[in-house]
Amino acid sequence: MNYKEALQHNIFKIISKSASQLGFESYVIGGYVRDFILKRGQVKDIDIVAVGDGIKLAEQVAKNLPNNPQVQVFKTYGTAMLRYDDIEIEFVGARKESYTENSRNPSVKNGTLQDDQNRRDFTINTLALNLNEAQFGDLLDSFAGVKDLENKIIRTPLDPDITYSDDPLRMMRAIRFATQLDFIIEEQSLKAISKNSDRIKIITNERIVTELNKILESKKPSIGFLLLEKTGLLNYILPELTALKGIDEVEGQRHKDNFYHTLEVLDNISENTDNLWLRWAALLHDIGKAPTKKFSKKVGWTFHGHEFEGSKMVFHLFKRLKMPLNDKMKFVQKMVLMSSRPIALVNEEVTDSAVRRLMFDAGEFVDDLMTLCEADITTKNAKKFNKYHNNFKIVREKIVEVEERDHIRNFQPPISGEEIMKTFNIKPSREIGNIKETIKEAILEGDIPNEYEAAYELMLKEGKRLGLKVSVSQ
Ligand code: ATP
Repeated sequence: MNYKEALQHNIFKIISKSASQLGFESYVIGGYVRDFILKRGQVKDIDIVAVGDGIKLAEQVAKNLPNNPQVQVFKTYGTAMLRYDDIEIEFVGARKESYTENSRNPSVKNGTLQDDQNRRDFTINTLALNLNEAQFGDLLDSFAGVKDLENKIIRTPLDPDITYSDDPLRMMRAIRFATQLDFIIEEQSLKAISKNSDRIKIITNERIVTELNKILESKKPSIGFLLLEKTGLLNYILPELTALKGIDEVEGQRHKDNFYHTLEVLDNISENTDNLWLRWAALLHDIGKAPTKKFSKKVGWTFHGHEFEGSKMVFHLFKRLKMPLNDKMKFVQKMVLMSSRPIALVNEEVTDSAVRRLMFDAGEFVDDLMTLCEADITTKNAKKFNKYHNNFKIVREKIVEVEERDHIRNFQPPISGEEIMKTFNIKPSREIGNIKETIKEAILEGDIPNEYEAAYELMLKEGKRLGLKVSVSQ
């Protein structure tokens, strides 16, 4: 491979020149080199190691760049960052690290490039390209990282037990890279992750969630969740999911393993959406099944109310992990709460009014809900599989048809409370709510169209029934 091709951008020549002006050596290291070899899409950031002062190098580069960009200095970490041509470039001095028991923040000493490669998490992230003039473009691969890239292996450069214990975030990163790249975590590493899994407790929730999101955004997220489960990490991070594991059997009746089912649903949905929050909804759609599971002789296993229980659990889970408690969380809650609605609907004949109610309750998210429910079909019985998909296709068609006619998706009552008050000359009262509810019900049932005239008529009729008189000023 011609590594010079990775260094065609003029920034590399400028870094090289700046480093030699200061008498430093400089290298590109980590993700940029890895992703170049993997031919992995767009470059977001470049990491530069200086054997010398990283912050000084950043400042020298900024001086040499045509637009003299601002340098952001992170004194505590000894790093600096500047942005050029939409690329973030991070500078750090080569360093040697040593860790203490209770923190993932090491004490740091200046070191050689080799020292700096030693402190990296995985062999595939130690790869460095030389930027010094005489060796420009030479690859420095002290840990056979290229071989690991070819063989699709995640391996730590040093003893995995120490690597993961020093900085337990690396356990999450190992699993995240394995998922994103579809790589295998080497056996000793996997053992070390299992052994050190409880060390994840010293990692902040924000960092854990960043990695979880990257796993969820991968092509096949189940790879990551299976590894999280296998290593014991999942039990610390998302115990709601491990609680779904297992199949109980009473009197010969078994229920499905809802953990593996969930992962199938997650992979299914990931083929059909890039929406991270819909993927979260798929991951959490059955979490209410663990606390609601019951066995009765008559009907076997039931999970009554698991959707409601699950949607409440979503709030606690988001709060615990310090995830946003905003409209994204409400969306996930809504999906979980409604996740059985379309299924219940196709068990009977698909009536217009049932479709209208579904659209009213799901609002603008009715398509997302359908996508979730289609992903939820994991039966291995081909006949049933086709039947369910076909039924959902009918529901989707009906949604389009009903929407064209009745505009339920963003339902706004055709008669406002204010108009009701004016018509009957009444103050805010329960009657207004009653009339509005009657109109809404009549529209959803299909008794009247979603139009002003018809709703006005019904308002008059309902007002009369409640003993209200039409105001003379009307
Ligand atoms: P991506 O951008 O896909 O997350 P990346 O490898 O560029 O991948 P960064 O988090 O930007 O990831 O890290 C840059 C480099 O820093 C890595 O390639 C790796 O060499 C090193 N690194 C990052 N985090 C750690 C860590 N926790 N322990 C050791 N080395 C790390």
